[in-house]
Amino acid sequence: MVLSLAMVSAACSSNEVATPAPVESELASDSVDEIGVGASGQGDEEPQMTFGECLDDEEMCWEWSNEAENSPDCGPANDHDYCWEYKVFKPFISLNPEDLSSSPIDADAQSRAQRLVDSGWNATVDSEATYFATSDLRESDLEIVRAGIRAAEQYLGAYGPMRVYVIGSDEEITEPAIDDYCAWAYDPDLEEHCRSDQGVAIWEIAHYQGANAFAQHSRDRSTPTQSFVIGNPAQLGAADGAKIAAHEYVHVYQAAHQLYERADEYGLDWPRWLEEGAAEFLALYLADENGWLSFTERMEEALDGALDLRTRVPNLTIADIADERQLERVNDYCGLCFGVLQYETGQWATAWLASKTSVDEVFHGFFPRTYEHGIDRAFELSFGLSIDEFMVEFEDFLQLPRPQQLAILPTP
Ligand SMILES: [Zn+2]
Repeated sequence: MVLSLAMVSAACSSNEVATPAPVESELASDSVDEIGVGASGQGDEEPQMTFGECLDDEEMCWEWSNEAENSPDCGPANDHDYCWEYKVFKPFISLNPEDLSSSPIDADAQSRAQRLVDSGWNATVDSEATYFATSDLRESDLEIVRAGIRAAEQYLGAYGPMRVYVIGSDEEITEPAIDDYCAWAYDPDLEEHCRSDQGVAIWEIAHYQGANAFAQHSRDRSTPTQSFVIGNPAQLGAADGAKIAAHEYVHVYQAAHQLYERADEYGLDWPRWLEEGAAEFLALYLADENGWLSFTERMEEALDGALDLRTRVPNLTIADIADERQLERVNDYCGLCFGVLQYETGQWATAWLASKTSVDEVFHGFFPRTYEHGIDRAFELSFGLSIDEFMVEFEDFLQLPRPQQLAILPTP
């Protein structure tokens, strides 16, 4: 997936407020170009939905809360994507599932998928990830990333071939990293394009001294490769730096079991809450196993966040971010609130699925099974219920007393 410059800048500006969620620039590029559904998708007969500040009697709009009066960051003259915690929202109205049409897989996509299978894309490889670090980084910086990748590789298996780029904070010396990255992730005829696109993203990580990360899955390369890029891992502390590396590796693993480059068009993309929620859930679980942080503590914090969002934006659930179009619409309404759905709430959705089966079933059962059966059927086979049925049960779960919720957590 090609990452646009706008996304990187957007991710940079959101990093400051996006704790404790992993710092990533992953809002998919194909959705960024779209015009918000809220602005364009209104028929005459539909209620008025501005998605903005309430001016009249619109159905989906918000007002500033009392807290906004005393906030230096958010208020009537100061509205940002991260200001949703200073707003009072009218209930969210979900997109009609019938509006989320997808096309059948065409022969070309099928043969590309087969080519990937033949190349070993969804099978483990013999060699573990290799690394490229910019020369301003210390060995200890690199070790933070290695520790996270190693933990995830040991549990999930090594996929790839994969190369990891660790970027420091001196933009003058990013050239060798960009050269290496573009040659690794692209065929020669696309290297120039890479330099002016993701190459700039790498330069920006150094320039802004960012700690963001992105994964790249080069399915169309003549020899397919996987890679991921992370900036200044020590900045977030060794524990979280390693945890983020493990999180990104889960995406590499998910991508290894996603054989369709444009899966979203065929309705075969991972639901966003499961893709991100599962990645963060496992990263925290493995981080605890390695003694880097407390899984239970982080999951308790995540539960607080998930429940808080439910109060702030009534009727908004993880079912509303299954697909990129829906995600964009949620983003139009309450900005970065979607992060709480895809991370905190998604982590608990993953915990629920693991408690019905096992952590192994989520990762070693469900994900590898999806290529053969598709997401919906694989979900049923692994967890014994449909995604729609799960949504109902998970909503009930979120209303249980806290001790019953915490009781489902596995022990790393
Ligand atoms: Zn992620």
